[in-house]
Amino acid sequence: MTEMRSFLYRLSMALVLVLLVGCGPSAEKATFQFEAMGTVAGCDLELPSSLSRDSAQTMISALYDSVNTVFSIWQENTELSRLNRAPADSAISLSPWLKECLMQAKEIHKVSEGAFDPTAEPLLRLWGFYQRAGRLPSANEIDGARAAMGRWDFDEEGRVVKKSGETRFDLGAIAKGLALDLAVARLQSAGVENGLVDLGGNLFCLGGASGRDDWRVGVKDPLNKARYFATVNVTGLAVATSGSYERFVTIDGKRYGHIMNPATGRPSEGVLGVTVLAPTAQLADGLSTALFVMGPVAGKQLLGALTEKVSVIMVVPGEANNPDRVLVTPDLGNRVKVLPEYASQYHLEVWH
Ligand code: ADP
Ligand code: MG
Repeated sequence: MTEMRSFLYRLSMALVLVLLVGCGPSAEKATFQFEAMGTVAGCDLELPSSLSRDSAQTMISALYDSVNTVFSIWQENTELSRLNRAPADSAISLSPWLKECLMQAKEIHKVSEGAFDPTAEPLLRLWGFYQRAGRLPSANEIDGARAAMGRWDFDEEGRVVKKSGETRFDLGAIAKGLALDLAVARLQSAGVENGLVDLGGNLFCLGGASGRDDWRVGVKDPLNKARYFATVNVTGLAVATSGSYERFVTIDGKRYGHIMNPATGRPSEGVLGVTVLAPTAQLADGLSTALFVMGPVAGKQLLGALTEKVSVIMVVPGEANNPDRVLVTPDLGNRVKVLPEYASQYHLEVWH
């Protein structure tokens, strides 16, 4: 009897061991937020045992701080501020991050036929976006600012940049994307397979949420940035949103959004919001700004000219009293869901 007991005891212990080994150590979750690059950064990660929550946060926060020392135009001693101050035709060599970002910006400028312009700085300054006090510029002033734009290029070997004295860069439409791509690459090398990484509303979805093989991401309501009006299922992609609600100035009681239409020299109007899903955050970020300016007709052509696969959700006003239209590329047809409480305000349409 005792022998039988001891056999059963050993059997049950062996079973417990098999079950424990079978399950493996349960992955630790870490969720944290911090300030970076003038915005809020957040991570929701499944950590490998080799990476603690604190080291993950320190690693990503230090990375964003280094990116900021290159791209910020709010501080005088960053690489971009020095480039902006450079006198006409001086040949400036670039650090790898700035070079990569300017090359991507140049490409998006080209495919968007100038709707995306990394040298919109003089226009943004003119309309008061840096002073945070809007003013309505004259047609002459707008022409002057537009004339300063776009006069820059890489040299033939792509090693240095030359620009006119007045040409000044603002990479606010794309630099957060680059930072996010760098963060995701570091997390992946540290062994993270599942996680949602957020930099000021630019997201990267790695793997899936707990128990799922994708993430269900909220799409910001273009008329109220604190709320979501729809969800989209995403894995292995970046998600970026551009909307005029993000930053605006008020002039004579009218709101003007922070995305400029380089063709008119005025804040872009017509589109309410654009969300782009793309393989890199840099591309998603740049394209969301480009498509915001281009609108549905030119935007459709842009999508046709791209070599990368991207998906888009574009919100445009409905005619007369009709609900606003949510145009989604065909691949998103059954991945985007408008929340029931928004059903009468937004009408989902496949964008052909
Ligand atoms: P957010 O920075 O709010 O996420 P975006 O990615 O759309 O939104 O970037 C908007 C920023 O891009 C503006 O604040 C400005 O710095 C810059 N910008 C404005 N107009 C243009 C444009 N036509 N092309 C490129 N950058 C622009
Ligand atoms: Mg952008």
